[in-house]
Amino acid sequence: MNLILLGPPGAGKGTQAQRLVERFGIVQLSTGDMLRAAVKAGTALGTQAKAIMEAGELVPDDLMVALIAERIDEPDCAQGFILDGFPRTVAQAEALDHMLAERGLALDKVVAMEVDEEALIQRIVGRFSCADCGAGYHDQFKRPAVEGVCDQCGSTNFTRRADDNRETMIARLAAYHEQTAPIIPHYEAGGRFARVDGSGGIEAISAAIVAVLEGAGAAGGR
Ligand code: AMP
Repeated sequence: MNLILLGPPGAGKGTQAQRLVERFGIVQLSTGDMLRAAVKAGTALGTQAKAIMEAGELVPDDLMVALIAERIDEPDCAQGFILDGFPRTVAQAEALDHMLAERGLALDKVVAMEVDEEALIQRIVGRFSCADCGAGYHDQFKRPAVEGVCDQCGSTNFTRRADDNRETMIARLAAYHEQTAPIIPHYEAGGRFARVDGSGGIEAISAAIVAVLEGAGAAGGR
């Protein structure tokens, strides 16, 4: 199963992708995670991407397309993959069509997660994660049970993304509206498109996505 999870920053794409990984045994391809790894490793791509990411803008299409093309050729993608954060522009969507056709692959579903703007900002500005195991937390909505200690692995190291602040988030939302939202018609026309309300709890959203993927729910009908 090959999927795209679409949606603005803070919609919960990463959280839901991780759950789909566990449920369907497919891999998550998060271009944001790949770029953050490149920044951390100090590669040429990371050096180029760092300032762009901190400004909340988009990394050039040719770099992103090359990154994904290389990644989907790795053996772990053979069972299927979830694209999280890609494509983000019409040019990336077109390049993806090409890339998949060349490899005899197809998309099974494109799921767009919808959340209102104020909630997105609240979610992003308060979020942090365990620096060791990656477990996600939030200043308001999900603090560790024991203050300063990760619930999952006991680590006391936490981290916040450099771009998870109000100012950068506003730029990221603008980039989403100007450059990413226009790809929705590209997929709407194809009949494999579904919208899911991403504003509830993690479990409820997960159930709605699974219903869409298993063809059981009306959630994809809009
Ligand atoms: P994300 O983790 O998906 O929120 O991505 C974090 C940042 O990485 C974005 O704000 C962009 O600067 C960059 N980025 C991630 N994916 C892409 C993409 N497909 N195209 C361009 N820039 C991207």
